[in-house]
Amino acid sequence: MMMTRTVYVNGQYVPENEATISIFDRGFTFADGVYEVTSVIKGGLVDFDGHMARLKRSLRELSIALPHSIEESKNAHHQLVTLTKLDEGVIYLQISRGASDRDFPFPDGAMPTMIMFTQEKSLIDAPAAKTGIKVISVEDIRWARRDIKSVGLLAPVLAKQAAKEAGCQDAWLYQDGYVTEGSSNNAYIVTEDDVIVTRQLSNDILHGITRHAVLDLAREKGMTIEERPFTIDEALNAKEAFVTSASTFVYPVIEIDQQSIGNGTPGPVATRLRELYIENALANLS
Ligand code: PMP
Repeated sequence: MMMTRTVYVNGQYVPENEATISIFDRGFTFADGVYEVTSVIKGGLVDFDGHMARLKRSLRELSIALPHSIEESKNAHHQLVTLTKLDEGVIYLQISRGASDRDFPFPDGAMPTMIMFTQEKSLIDAPAAKTGIKVISVEDIRWARRDIKSVGLLAPVLAKQAAKEAGCQDAWLYQDGYVTEGSSNNAYIVTEDDVIVTRQLSNDILHGITRHAVLDLAREKGMTIEERPFTIDEALNAKEAFVTSASTFVYPVIEIDQQSIGNGTPGPVATRLRELYIENALANLS
């Protein structure tokens, strides 16, 4: 029997094959919308408040109204976890400006569209956490407001496809010679002196919720952090490299452009930060 997931569309919980939105939805025609991905472990939400704070910020930057209060959104997340019996995976939430005849300026009176769905995914025991991932470097051709979590994701789609064709799992994006971030995660290196380096927050990168949590944990443990740009060359000569995101937590990066990082296996800093992050997430589920 085909399994159909229950998904959320504008306040309704419906089987995925009965879920519909308008072909005039501006999320579809203009990528005029934003999204969040929240991970679920043991049926609980990880970093939920952070994801909702960023959602509100993304919507505000685009003058899209939040269709439901954060409390209602939280209930909807829990409801979907229950209806889909999700133990471990992610919840995708998207809000677009809504449907209207195709015209560029904001339409009058359009109601934002909100959809949510779940995807099962192994997070705590993800194989890539043990093996590490291989990445290629790709020029960052995205727009100038990467701090907004827009659904306009064609550049990362092309970057991930290029990575796949090169036999790798992801791409690190660079601009003016410096790494901005991974195609769907924040990027880090560990220097010879055990300093964790990651690009500082600006409009050039997404302000990762996992980044925030991981850097807090690293600071708590007395690790040294430098928030500054670094080059692919510096990364190639680093002791370690890794990425963070809601759907990966922390993944070690063992190879960039076919060159091994450190000894080519997951390093102790990435491994430790992953453990700390999971321990902290489990103790603070919403
Ligand atoms: N950068 C980009 C471009 C991303 O798509 C993501 C994943 N949403 C991240 C960073 C990591 O953000 P988070 O830790 O909030 O998932």
